[in-house]
Amino acid sequence: MQSLIPMSKNKNNNRKRAKLLNTLFTVVPLLLIIAFLSRCIPDGTVRLNIGKSGIGEKAIALTFDDGPSDYTEELLDGLLEYEVTVTFFVIGNKAEKRPEIVKRAYDEGHLIGNHTYNHLDFFESDIDEIKESIEKGETAIEEITGKKPLFLRAPYGHVGIFQLKKLDSFFIHWSASTYDWYKEDADFVYNRIMDEAKDGAIILLHDTKKTTVEAVLRAIPELLDQGYEFVRVDDLLSRNGDRIRMGTPYRSCKYNRGAISF
Ligand SMILES: [Zn+2]
Repeated sequence: MQSLIPMSKNKNNNRKRAKLLNTLFTVVPLLLIIAFLSRCIPDGTVRLNIGKSGIGEKAIALTFDDGPSDYTEELLDGLLEYEVTVTFFVIGNKAEKRPEIVKRAYDEGHLIGNHTYNHLDFFESDIDEIKESIEKGETAIEEITGKKPLFLRAPYGHVGIFQLKKLDSFFIHWSASTYDWYKEDADFVYNRIMDEAKDGAIILLHDTKKTTVEAVLRAIPELLDQGYEFVRVDDLLSRNGDRIRMGTPYRSCKYNRGAISF
């Protein structure tokens, strides 16, 4: 009986070792397959030093999608009057039709981002179609401004985690939507902007709506009076000296807290 005890201990140890090896041989290849499929091997980080420095604790980035449109120039006039800079995520084929508006926005210090060439829904497209639309949008912008856009906003905010890892783009989402695409009511949009105004906010708007332009030009002087400053997305993201990553969507950037992604 005495000799059985060490034998059973050995058996137990052997069983544990076999179990561990089994687990390792199952989990490790599985992780490698997942890493390969999602290409989640880090593709480098970039420290943005392209923005303005000295941005304070009450900074907001207004972002305008889907233009240029009939109302973009009215918006640009107002922004010039208040000496405010914003970010436009333009659609490539619209930019080609109205290059002078995009050039004006760029020359007046606004950031021009890419919103794809044809407002492609990534959820309904394959990766090659997505890449093509992104590249065509970039080219359209570069031909007007002479500069390749660095930032991308996915139409509808639709982008999957696996797609993100396959696209070499700095994605910008938003911390607050004004729902201006849904409700064309200047008072409603104005109230949404005022409610969502906070440090680090990236606010989603559309310069394709007259009511949005009216609401924004009403909100800006009031928020300036409250001590807010309006900055471009790159300024906001570079404010804390954060490293940002391609394939990561950013939605906010609080003072001294770093860029927030999801
Ligand atoms: Zn859009």
